[in-house]
Amino acid sequence: MIDPQVVRRDFPILQRQVRGKPLVYLDNAATTQKPRQVIDAMNHYYEHYNANVHRSIHELGEEATHAWEQAHERAARFINARGIEEVVFTKGTTEGVNLVAYAWGLTNLQAGDEVVTTIMEHHSNFVPWQNVCRRTGATLRVAPLTAQGELDMEAFRSLLTPRTKMVTLTGMSNVLGTITPVREITKLAHAVGALVFVDGAQFVPHTYADVRDLGVDFMAFSGHKMLGPTGVGVLYGKREILENMDPFLYGGEMIRRVTVEETTYNDLPWKFEAGTPNIAEGVGLAAAMDYLDKLGMDNVREYEKHITGYAMKRLAELPEVTIYGPPAERRGGVVSFTYGDIHPHDLASLLNERGVAIRAGNHCAQPLMQQLNVASTARASFYVYNTKEEVDVLVEALQHARKVFAQ
Ligand code: PMP
Repeated sequence: MIDPQVVRRDFPILQRQVRGKPLVYLDNAATTQKPRQVIDAMNHYYEHYNANVHRSIHELGEEATHAWEQAHERAARFINARGIEEVVFTKGTTEGVNLVAYAWGLTNLQAGDEVVTTIMEHHSNFVPWQNVCRRTGATLRVAPLTAQGELDMEAFRSLLTPRTKMVTLTGMSNVLGTITPVREITKLAHAVGALVFVDGAQFVPHTYADVRDLGVDFMAFSGHKMLGPTGVGVLYGKREILENMDPFLYGGEMIRRVTVEETTYNDLPWKFEAGTPNIAEGVGLAAAMDYLDKLGMDNVREYEKHITGYAMKRLAELPEVTIYGPPAERRGGVVSFTYGDIHPHDLASLLNERGVAIRAGNHCAQPLMQQLNVASTARASFYVYNTKEEVDVLVEALQHARKVFAQ
């Protein structure tokens, strides 16, 4: 089992105090902290071999290009893609969804076609599809959840027809923590001839997401939610599908030959990486993947079940707490809750007074909030450096908040 005390030593920020108290960082679903190994890798790049990639044949240019390509190799290995041609570096999950929604959706969808998604999507895997459906005349179908906050598989199955061209869903909800049965869904979707897009923003950081085993056609995720830097993410796509897609952004780097009359495009994945990329961030992401693989993604998942199970048990001891979503074995490290009639924002402010960082709000999932019939929730989210003692601090801070509001 992962020892969070050992892991914590690698994270300089976890030493800091907030309002005179040790920081208890429980906002990992928004973004995770970065280990020294990631920070050092990025500093090393800037201090030793900063140069543009795929352009200059001088020493620094060669080194930077090598590191950029190695980062793609690293990402391909992390998700078991066939090679770097299936791994496009993006700004993050949001860009990955938009890339597929525009570059695939605008040319492949038309009136009469359907895109199937779920009610628990983050806006970034909902609004781009809603927009592309509006522009192409396709219809967006939305699968509901069970009372426990899991995908209603019967309802989902009934939405799949030969009209379905794309099934797009989250691998793990950023609100409920629900893990969706991606492998099973992929089989069902492929059986009606649809492609599958997985929003891996929460899924990939928390479990081993093997794209070949899952069988998905696309999967997008963000570096900053898996110990890496902001500003970089990955879009996985099956080679034969990416090859047949038009580019998303046009400009330098993504071309092979340009004449006044016409342009031919570069090989994968560069065809989808127009302009100077975020090189330092790519280097940092590769270091984050090294770090996670050293911990072992199966161990990450096990530790998360452990800490989340403990948090759910402790939170359930508070009489007025309502927890949303499934039990710990079937969720990632995210626990959304409400606490009596205390507004989640007030709760987050009071917790902050005690150094505890949680998130409050609609979590960029307004359709889900409407279904849950709440305006907002408080959310504590855990990662490999969170301890049971920190969960205890959270619970004490909630008890204190109750007293403040009883006055
Ligand atoms: N999908 C899910 C499930 C998320 O949790 C998030 C981030 N909160 C996103 C997509 C968007 O990720 P990013 O902001 O890094 O593009």
